[in-house]
Amino acid sequence: MISLQLLTSNPNPSSFQTSSPFIFTCVQPLKRKTLKPNFKNRTHYSNAIQSVLQWNRKPELAGETPRVVVITSGKGGVGKTTTTANVGLSLARLGFSVVAIDADVGLRNLDLLLGLENRVNYTAVEVLNGDCRLDQALVRDKRWSNFELLCISKARTKLPLGFGGKALIWLVDALKGRQEGSPDFILIDCPAGIDAGFITAITPANEAVLVTTPDITSLRDADRVTGLLECDGIKDVKMIVNRVRTDLIRGEDMMSILDVQEMLGLALLGVIPEDSEVIRSTNRGYPLVLNKPPTLAGLAFEQAAWRLVEQDSMTAVMVEEEPKKRGFFSFFGG
Ligand code: ADP
Ligand code: MG
Repeated sequence: MISLQLLTSNPNPSSFQTSSPFIFTCVQPLKRKTLKPNFKNRTHYSNAIQSVLQWNRKPELAGETPRVVVITSGKGGVGKTTTTANVGLSLARLGFSVVAIDADVGLRNLDLLLGLENRVNYTAVEVLNGDCRLDQALVRDKRWSNFELLCISKARTKLPLGFGGKALIWLVDALKGRQEGSPDFILIDCPAGIDAGFITAITPANEAVLVTTPDITSLRDADRVTGLLECDGIKDVKMIVNRVRTDLIRGEDMMSILDVQEMLGLALLGVIPEDSEVIRSTNRGYPLVLNKPPTLAGLAFEQAAWRLVEQDSMTAVMVEEEPKKRGFFSFFGG
């Protein structure tokens, strides 16, 4: 039995600060080298545990602000909006100012996931028409005032004629030039597909988070989208693999993270397990990352947010599975 363990590429104690504690198991005929963290002394050991729990540290923001990140996928229903809401609120909780733009015009639902649907009075289209000010269209989150939502247009309307990439660039520039200062992150929730809505959503972005599920249709679309992003000059593309089921991977009924990584060749920002709490939280308009106690998927989204801040990534590697004896933290044993 072999297990697939997710580590950052550099397995030293400091890089463990953003590494995932999750272990994904799968049966593989191939035997590869066992990889264990090598802690020099007791302090390193306890630092690593503390850092996984992330009590004593704030991530350091890498890159120039605002970081304009498009959350995209190609295929619909793979978790783009869920990712935007959860990563966005995690970033806000970490103290960064965030504006999430719902660019999925026809099927707008980021407001629902955030529980802000009753507070959207104005949209970007009205800002561009001169019917309201930008700050009137920005909906402040009820829980984290440094998180704001901007919807492109009213629910169930089509992308307005003439609203394209240039309009979105204008909005991003307007956000940068706000009196209270530019936000740290502008997250753009992209529509499915690769037509006008997609092109509009990716235009102002300088980095992308590609959400995929470990199935062949989603991966094929993700691969196509990666090519289009690169054509558009977006070189910083990281992926989130969502709805992962270790039981299916173990039974070889689902592709492993390693397979996904090899197929897409992208840096891995996070791996999110399938979790019924995601659906429950969607229906309540209360993003999963706010749940107490946190669920596995919530923790995984939070860790993806940490990596996004630090422009870090992780790599899937194959390791031999050890018999379970000392509980959760046995992973750190020497
Ligand atoms: P997209 O924006 O890509 O169309 P959504 O974020 O709206 O996708 O998610 C589609 C559906 O999948 C939603 O019902 C959501 O609750 C569910 N979902 C997303 N991620 C997970 C997960 N990790 N576990 C369980 N359900 C999920
Ligand atoms: Mg969506």
